[in-house]
Formats: sequence, C-alpha cells, structure tokens
Amino acid sequence: MEALRSWEPWATHAGAYAFVVAFGALWGSFANVCIYRLPQGLSVVSPGSRCGACMTPVRWYDNVPIFAYLWLRGRCRDCGAAFSPRYLLVEAVTGALFGVAWWAAVEASALWEPFELRLLRFAIYAAFVLLMMVITFIDLDHQLILDKVTLPAIAVFYGAGLLLERHWSEGLLGALLGYGVVWLIDAVYRMLRGQDGMGLGDGKLLAVIGALLGWRGVVVALFGGAFVGSIVTLGMLAVIRRLPAAMTEPSPAPAVDGPAAALAGGGQTKVSEAQGGAASKDPGPAGAPAGVAEGARDPEDEADGDDAAPSALETPIPFGPFIAFAAVFYLFAEPWVQISVAFLGRR
Ligand SMILES: [Zn+2]
Repeated sequence: MEALRSWEPWATHAGAYAFVVAFGALWGSFANVCIYRLPQGLSVVSPGSRCGACMTPVRWYDNVPIFAYLWLRGRCRDCGAAFSPRYLLVEAVTGALFGVAWWAAVEASALWEPFELRLLRFAIYAAFVLLMMVITFIDLDHQLILDKVTLPAIAVFYGAGLLLERHWSEGLLGALLGYGVVWLIDAVYRMLRGQDGMGLGDGKLLAVIGALLGWRGVVVALFGGAFVGSIVTLGMLAVIRRLPAAMTEPSPAPAVDGPAAALAGGGQTKVSEAQGGAASKDPGPAGAPAGVAEGARDPEDEADGDDAAPSALETPIPFGPFIAFAAVFYLFAEPWVQISVAFLGRR
C-alpha cells in the first residue's frame, strides 16, 4: 500500500493523463471489437482483429489505437478496404472519457478519499464508461440492448457500488427502480396503444445504472436522456425539413403525446421492431427520441413511399444512447452533487 501511495504525487501530472487517455484508447479498440462481435454471438477474445474484407489479421504494429487509423489513412494495409471512421471515433471518445474519469475519480476527490480508494473509483468509472460505449453503439447499429451485456453488468456494478462504500440498499433500490419504471411505462403504453412502448432493454440498462449510482442516477439518466434525446431529435428534424421533399415525404407535424409517450417511444430494443422500423419511411417527429422510433414502428406507416431510397435519416433513433450519455454525465457529476447536498445540509 505504501508503494502505491508513493505514486500519488504523479497522479495529477500531465504524463499521467496522457497515459490514462492512451490506456482508454486501447480499451476503446476493445469496445469496437465488442460492438461488432457481440450482436453476432462471436467471441470478443479470439480470433484477433482482422480486416472485414480480406480477413487478413491486423499486424501488431497496426493495432495501435487512433494512430494506426491515421497512418493507414483508414484503409486495410493488404486489400485497401476502407474502415469506418467510427472505429477512430470510438477509440478517441473512450480515451477522452477515461481522462475525465481519472480527473473525477483520482484528482477531484483528492481531499476526502485515500489514494487507493480513488484508484478503485477510477477502475469502476472506466469500466462503466466502457460498458456505456459498447451499449450505445450496439443500440445505434441494431436497436438492441443485449441481455448478455446488461444482466451480468447489473451484478458487477452492484458489487462495485458496495466497494465504493455505498449502502447495500442503494444499488438495489436503483436497479429495481430503473427496471420498474420502464416496465411500468411499457405496460401503460401497451394498455393504451396496444403496442410496445419502451423496450425492456432500456429498463435493464437503467437497472445497470441504478445498481451503481442508486435511484438518483436512474432519475438523471431517464429524464436527462429524454431531454437530450428531444433536443437531438428536434435538431435532426430541422435538418430533415430542409432536405428536398422527395427524400423525406411524408413529413407530418410534430405531435407530442404527453411525457409518458415521449419517454416511452424511444426504446427500440427488439430485433423485429428494428426491422420494421428500418423499412419505414416516416421520419416521425414526435417529442423525443421517442417520436422517431414510434413513427417508424407503426406498421401502417410502412405503406408510404416504397419508391424512396433508404437513407440514414429513416433509421429509428434508439433511446439507449441518450440514457447512457446522461448516466455518464451523472457518474462524473455525482461527487459534486453530494458535496453540495452535504454542504447545504450543514448550514
Ligand atoms: Zn483487407
């Protein structure tokens, strides 16, 4: 323990941050593997990375995150097939988030936590960030939140919460609330509309968040996610509106069916729905990520515009990424929230 503490003065050094960001980018590279392979039921451990076009294994010196993409100019060294710039994006964002996690876990709480507990906090934050990246991009690709990812994660992050000295009831309550609220929205929606409301995958994602961050984390993730999702959806609508009519018809007026529907529509977490949604031409601009998914999911709407070419704009927007985004925000903000609460309580 003493040997560990001797490293403490270096923790706030710029070199430590550079190391942490590079470490995060390496894990981002692993996240890319998970995002690609987990939905296909493939192993994320073996075989090693290979080109999707010519299947040549990636050489060890071309496996350097971020930089390899740049020096290869985003192409396979053997066959020249282009790799999606998203690989670069996932590596860079994961690296950056590891840097923020280091700041939040190790540097910002230096006054009131011993060094070894802060290192543990960083490890947990980093694992949580990585998980949110994997869930976000699988959900964007497949409108799917995998049980084999969320269910073990609920147990792991409940345990992690205990290591961070949370009361045992906090994570339990958070996980139950997270799943329960989505289950309830789904049940009400099903009763009123006779169709799936919010996918239960979103509920399991919220249960992971609640298991680590308690009920406050669930509330922030759900409402923060709905808020950010609404802004992004409205922004995309503004863009869609300016495109030539042929690309976007029909273009119904925005319709918000109340907060429940706004929250409820977003969870496109079932394969069948995703396929139905992909075939739809309705940009579906209701209030939230919600509206897009809801419009896209309506079977009646699939009759419109079979002649139009499919485009990225017609892909339903899943709610999961917005929940994950808000959860990561709360993860980093939570110590500050707690300090303010403690400070106000003392006065
Ligand atoms: Zn290749």
